[in-house]
Amino acid sequence: MTTKAAIDWHKLARELRVEQHHFIDGAGVPSIDRREFAVVNPANAEVHVKVARGSVDDVDRAVVAAQRAFPAWSRMAPRQRMKILMDFADRIESDGQDLALMDTLDMGMPISNMIDGEVAEAADIFRFFAETCDKISGAVTPTDASAFNYILREPMGVVGAITPWNFPLTQAAGKIAPALAAGNCVVLKPSEESPQSATRLARLFIDAGGPPGVFNVVNGYGHEAGKALAKHMQVAKIAFTGSVAVGRKMMIYAGKSNLKHVATELGGKSPQIILGDVDDLDYAVECAMHGIFGNSGQVCNAASRMLVHESVHDEFIERLINVTRENYVPGDPLDPLTSMGPLVSQKQQQTVLAYLESGQQEGAELLLGGRIPATAKNGFFIEPSVFRNVGNRMRIAQDEIFGPVASIIRFSSLEEAVSIANDTIYGLTASIFTRDLATAHRLARDVQAGVVWLNTMNESDMTMPWGGVKQSGTGRDNCLDTVYSYLQTKSVWARIS
Ligand code: NAD
Repeated sequence: MTTKAAIDWHKLARELRVEQHHFIDGAGVPSIDRREFAVVNPANAEVHVKVARGSVDDVDRAVVAAQRAFPAWSRMAPRQRMKILMDFADRIESDGQDLALMDTLDMGMPISNMIDGEVAEAADIFRFFAETCDKISGAVTPTDASAFNYILREPMGVVGAITPWNFPLTQAAGKIAPALAAGNCVVLKPSEESPQSATRLARLFIDAGGPPGVFNVVNGYGHEAGKALAKHMQVAKIAFTGSVAVGRKMMIYAGKSNLKHVATELGGKSPQIILGDVDDLDYAVECAMHGIFGNSGQVCNAASRMLVHESVHDEFIERLINVTRENYVPGDPLDPLTSMGPLVSQKQQQTVLAYLESGQQEGAELLLGGRIPATAKNGFFIEPSVFRNVGNRMRIAQDEIFGPVASIIRFSSLEEAVSIANDTIYGLTASIFTRDLATAHRLARDVQAGVVWLNTMNESDMTMPWGGVKQSGTGRDNCLDTVYSYLQTKSVWARIS
């Protein structure tokens, strides 16, 4: 087998069969009005593919196809549905090189992370939910002897999925897999920054024996295709991952259309709390480094606020800066040795630069980075950056920057740490590093977050519910419960005497 280091990824990128169309009713199709939009490779600022730009009419066409496919898919024997989804997962793995290249070219994630992480994880997501197909049952309720009441769990119909660009493949998988396993049909609108892998997924689903119309993709801009999907009167549920601002719109669209179900996975400003009695400071530093610089900080649960006890504060900073210099050097994302790619777009790069400026103006001390690296040429790169002396009311501590910017906040008591951790509109994740078990569990209880890690960070598997509290959203991905969120209950009451 060829190792990924031995592969010439630039050559493969030149030879890649790109995906430019929507995928509706089992086939790739251009937009009805033939419009397209350009996708820019953030590593060199060049347009590398033009993709169909969906309109209200394209979305409607996809929803109609999904509605038509729904009766047969929802009534298919669950084990047959499972077989198709399992085959789909295998095909994701065998097409992994292409899928990885598409996302790396579209949004800049290093190719190693794509192959080792994203592709394998996407296949896992499908396998996990495929296994649930014939494990979901209804119920019979205890009534008096004159009646018989049973509960059916039924798929909802057409599910609209709207996803972001930071993990295109796994974000799409996280919505599609449970929706399909539950017997729904899907119309996916991927981010306009990273459209290609979604269309390839839909193609692979057909190759796996998936019926046409069950899984459709409409590409395009949020305010056009995304809005049309979220407002569509025949869409039963919107599963959305993205920013708080757009998540808010999803609820408005639902209210203004058919009161569809809305599940949101939104932003974060996650605290990493390091207490003075931390057992392994080096490990905590390593978690912090990967937590904020992985995927160039474009991660919903990025460890963007590091709350460090005063007794280990200086030591933590010194070690963080040393290991970051060694491990995170921005570079060509098609080089398998690169650990840090560009930001997704020039707009995102400018946003992060503005935050770096604002942090300094508000009095934080920039210790590392803060600039476009000299080697960047035309790409949208930013150096890994670290601030100390950050106050929690500063913008760099309150706003989701979505870039490689660590804000280090010093604290002196547990109460202070909890109060700072919770002083945010977000509540996605938190992590706590301490040797004291009672303190760890007390903080896990007191910190407002959907996911709390104790003495580690970013570990999970498919059984772990993923999602936030407060303005980080209302939905949950992964885990068995998620399948139920794509089903609705029907009560059947019969008089039997
Ligand atoms: P975004 O909100 O700008 O866009 C997300 C999706 O919504 C895209 O497909 C976009 O085209 C679409 N969209 C935009 N405007 C729309 C509108 N008016 N109507 C309908 N659709 C519209 O987010 P982004 O910049 O793509 O992604 C980054 C955000 O996603 C961050 O806030 C990040 O925290 C969040 N995120 C959250 C999780 C999680 O699990 N909680 C995971 C990944 C990303």
